Amino acid sequence: MDYSVVKGTHDVIQGEASAYTHVENILCQVASNYGYQEFRTPIIENSGLFMRSVGEGSDIVRKEMYTFKDKGDRDITLRPEMTAGVVRSMVNARLFASSDFPVKAFYVGPNFRYERPQQGRYRQFNQFGVECVGTDSIIRDVEVIELAYNSLKIIGFDKVTLKINTLGDEDSRVAYKQALVDYFSKHIETMCDDCKERIKLNPLRILDCKVPEDQVIVKDAPELKNYLSKDAKERFDETLKMLEKLEIPFEIDENLVRGLDYYTGVVFEFTYVSTNGLNVGSLGGGGHYGKLLKELGGPDLEGVGFAFGIERLISILKDENRLPQEEGLDLYLMPLDKKYNENALELVTTLRNLGFSAEANFEGGSISSAFKKAERRSAKFALIFGEDEIKNNTVQVKDLNKKEQKEVKFDELFDFLDENLIDEDEHHHE
Ligand code: AMP
Repeated sequence: MDYSVVKGTHDVIQGEASAYTHVENILCQVASNYGYQEFRTPIIENSGLFMRSVGEGSDIVRKEMYTFKDKGDRDITLRPEMTAGVVRSMVNARLFASSDFPVKAFYVGPNFRYERPQQGRYRQFNQFGVECVGTDSIIRDVEVIELAYNSLKIIGFDKVTLKINTLGDEDSRVAYKQALVDYFSKHIETMCDDCKERIKLNPLRILDCKVPEDQVIVKDAPELKNYLSKDAKERFDETLKMLEKLEIPFEIDENLVRGLDYYTGVVFEFTYVSTNGLNVGSLGGGGHYGKLLKELGGPDLEGVGFAFGIERLISILKDENRLPQEEGLDLYLMPLDKKYNENALELVTTLRNLGFSAEANFEGGSISSAFKKAERRSAKFALIFGEDEIKNNTVQVKDLNKKEQKEVKFDELFDFLDENLIDEDEHHHE
């Protein structure tokens, strides 16, 4: 029996888990400030949902999904992304019949893709994302891009690269797909098996092919920009103008097509290289989707969204040595002998109820080992007591930063701690 983690997954424990919470909390808070509300949808969905939305021609559906039959013979998939589930939930709840438009959702949670694990690429990974649904306005596209850009800035990535492209509207896509089919049909016999399938399911995906011989053919393929309808071109130009006005720098990347089939219109991606040179690929990306709601049985409305990979944000922060410090404990209780454990339990319970963060050393051992434990938890004060203190209704309070110790009367303890912990906090913030 092998008890290590499943390949491509990783444990997030102790200080690292609080770094995740910290980053996720910032993202959630910023999204709330932009009028988004949290959505929590199931991790398991009917497989058909992703075939319909992410698309049968996408690598995700073709190769990467964790799909299984449950005991009721249902065809179930662990979600590979969250847009489909969130939009499905909006359609199911009939939010478009009653709510004001747009419906704005943010979400955070795990996703699953059977990919080859490597730097920044896991089989279970976490995403934070937003969906702004029920609108086809360019302003909303720009608002979502600005939210993503601003969130990265608030987390501390101020030199991100925003890559942007347009996939055009339905008319543009139909024309472009036909042009691709015409072009690749002439070469498909010599191309890889994946491409042979892609030309049938979604010829756009051939552009992503990593096989060197195929890339030579891809290089001369028709370019999307020559097949954009007038309307699609105008929308894209207007989008870029608004970004300029908001002083959000971008690079147009005509090869950016993204791996999910539901995008139409603007698509974008953020990349960032850490000051130490670490590059984890794209931090996040998204785009406009025109037909997703209708595909999922909803009204003929459009939407726009993005998702960040939390693991990637964290690994950059770690590489730049900027992971937030874990909050230390306020208090560490040290009964001088195990026989005072019950007194310690009573005291620590009272202190916790008063709002102090506190741990007690019920495990005995030497006083110096107790101090080491307190230090490892970055405790601010040690409360030490033995026979004498208990008899006198006092406790020894040691300031672990200033290394000063004072005997404090029991009934004055709370006031004393209150006052001195505020001092400590100010001291820390200096
Ligand atoms: P996508 O849903 O493919 O548009 O991906 C959005 C973001 O999720 C990417 O930019 C990555 O930051 C993150 N992401 C996607 N796949 C993985 C993965 N296998 N491991 C870690 N992060 C991922």
